[in-house]
Amino acid sequence: MKLVIRGGTLVTMDSERRVVRGDLIIQGGHIVEVGDAAIVDRATEILDATDCIVLPGLVQAHTHLCQTLCRGRADDLPLLEWLRERIWPHESALDEKSMRASARLAAAELLLGGTTAILDMGSVHETDALIDAIGHTGLRAVVGKAMMDMGDGVPRRLREETARSLDESDELAARYTGAFDGRIRYAYAPRFVLSCTEGLLSEVAARVKQGLRAHTHASEQAAEIEIVRRERGSDNIAYFSKLGLDGPGVTLAHCVHATNDEQALLASRGTHVTHCPSSNLKLGSGIAPIAEMLERGINVALGFDGAPCNNTMDGFAEMRLAALLQKGLKGPTVLPATQALELATLSGARALGLEREIGSLEVGKRADVIIVDPRKVHSTPNFDCASTLVYSIQRHDVRDVLVDGRVLVRNGALTELTGLVVEEVISVAETEARRIVGW
Ligand SMILES: [Zn+2]
Repeated sequence: MKLVIRGGTLVTMDSERRVVRGDLIIQGGHIVEVGDAAIVDRATEILDATDCIVLPGLVQAHTHLCQTLCRGRADDLPLLEWLRERIWPHESALDEKSMRASARLAAAELLLGGTTAILDMGSVHETDALIDAIGHTGLRAVVGKAMMDMGDGVPRRLREETARSLDESDELAARYTGAFDGRIRYAYAPRFVLSCTEGLLSEVAARVKQGLRAHTHASEQAAEIEIVRRERGSDNIAYFSKLGLDGPGVTLAHCVHATNDEQALLASRGTHVTHCPSSNLKLGSGIAPIAEMLERGINVALGFDGAPCNNTMDGFAEMRLAALLQKGLKGPTVLPATQALELATLSGARALGLEREIGSLEVGKRADVIIVDPRKVHSTPNFDCASTLVYSIQRHDVRDVLVDGRVLVRNGALTELTGLVVEEVISVAETEARRIVGW
């Protein structure tokens, strides 16, 4: 089946960052032509994009879909208290039903807001329910169960034996890599240094050496780094490198307090960084030095983290905030709109290990595409699409969303391909959120 997105302005994010007016032609889930007028026959489905902006779907390279039902229950706390008092008890209480409700609520929010791919850290348990729920919505995800084999204040249900954590992760990786028509991949997810023994981290590093992926948190808050220094004898990112947990197969969320030496390590090893500006501000962690990181050639992606530390999951808001924060720190010329857009598309694709498949509108890539309508009072006039997308567009301006060429959002509403009906998703999520905390 051929699908043509007709007559839009295509923000391609290709190597020349071309913005062209024309058609985008999709066949078999892939982009087959960019910009030329399509020849259509009766079998061709047409999505009219006249006066609209067509761009690659947004990629969020650090999320926790398992935490969505904890939205609004964990405000105004520093990281370690936030984890011990709210997040871990929440995750510990999740069962299959609440995990599904959490993932479905998040997927609905993500798709409606133009996010088409994520790098997600699950919880310790209920990973099958999480991945199955994500897979059925049509979203693309690189996901892994959280690994936790030690730590202060870790609830009993989240604390695992090292070997068991590794075995279960290996089984999940084997089961889900390439599942749901290739939309699901696996990334090992040791939670962070303070919840992982050196043995566990080294075993994950060994898997990365074999070509598998890993996703973890690093250098988020000063108090956390102090403990890492005391207990492991070095800075957080440097410690990971010492264990071999670095390189193009590894994505580190936050890196707010990456030292100069650590930034040099990130650059030389090719480790990916996911910048989570809203989460870093709300938890009082600070502002990651991403202008310096970008200057060093480090791949920096964006992430909205989880609902309890944001409390919204809006790729457009993260992009705008990322640009504004660096301008506030470094002056107005850093992180221009096209570069901010790159963080949320191409760089995200790299951080997921999917740069050959998604992140730009190019022939041969998978058709993960969004159509945005800029004809709104807050985004008129539209002189420059990148500027409009980064500074003016809001997530509700997303009109259509495609993953693998499948239309998951049409005219601002989820289609039946997602299996998501908004009213039902909200009602189940509300019930499950209250049930697991006994309210
Ligand atoms: Zn996180």
